[in-house]
Amino acid sequence: MTTTTRPVDELDDRDHLRWIDNIPFWGVHVAAIAGVAWLGWSWSGLAVAAASYGVRLFAITAGYHRYFSHRAYRTSRGFQLVLAVVGLTATQKGPLWWAAHHRVHHKHSDQPGDVHSVRQRGFWWAHMLWILVERNARADHDKVRDLTRYPELRFVDRHAIWFTVGFALGLYLIGGWHALIWGYFVSTVVLWHGTFTINSLSHVWGTRRYATTDDSRNNPFLAVITLGEGWHNNHHYYQRSARQGFYWWEIDLSFYVLKLLETAHLVWDVEGVPRHVRDRRHTVEQPEQPDDQATPATGGLVSGTGIASTPR
Ligand SMILES: [Zn+2]
Ligand SMILES: [Zn+2]
Repeated sequence: MTTTTRPVDELDDRDHLRWIDNIPFWGVHVAAIAGVAWLGWSWSGLAVAAASYGVRLFAITAGYHRYFSHRAYRTSRGFQLVLAVVGLTATQKGPLWWAAHHRVHHKHSDQPGDVHSVRQRGFWWAHMLWILVERNARADHDKVRDLTRYPELRFVDRHAIWFTVGFALGLYLIGGWHALIWGYFVSTVVLWHGTFTINSLSHVWGTRRYATTDDSRNNPFLAVITLGEGWHNNHHYYQRSARQGFYWWEIDLSFYVLKLLETAHLVWDVEGVPRHVRDRRHTVEQPEQPDDQATPATGGLVSGTGIASTPR
């Protein structure tokens, strides 16, 4: 695996790591390691961590990513809020912050202006350092005007930290230190770095089915640990699809769960990739992509810009 790092000449104070502000980020890592050392290895603890990982990662992949960032399917205003609240417990800031930065990533994928590009700033920048600098502490809400029109989304995004605190406190009240250490600290560290691999490893490790203008890759291992997000070259090629594993053998757990939720009428218009688009390989001509997803469209997945219309 090789990465290319390009010196950036326009850095200023806002691009330096904020060590004091980032104490909670490093503190969660320390608490996870120290907690397991203190409590000792536990299979039941691992099960708690895995369950917490699975539920919260689904809210990130299917919620923050495929719904809030790409509007790749539709849902009700109530379930939209459920996705936001569960996603908030993953401690990756709020849905507005997450979606705004992710839309910038797609707009400038691996070009100058991309917030987390291995090609532009190196592996560790793309993996996690980009989150830890002042420049990216806040989001440009003009990028997510289709989301900011919901006051409840603005509210939860503004008070993101309290959902993490509430989740951790709830675990402690239910299962004491055992549940807190495994269900929050250990699970969150793995969840963070699992999510981060999509911005780092998925742009350097794997195969490229489509000759997109970025370095995105498909990687079955990353797809399994991230509930389907590892089919990242597919995703960059056709981001409006709620399905990132384009073929039956490309395991995409988030998509399967979305289809289940669709049968329960909690979500709808969960579409995949049209066959003629999927089979048009080895081309730099990407299908029509939303240039800036901040403007809501009335169309659905096939005829519109990939942004679903207002939740009902
Ligand atoms: Zn995306
Ligand atoms: Zn990407």
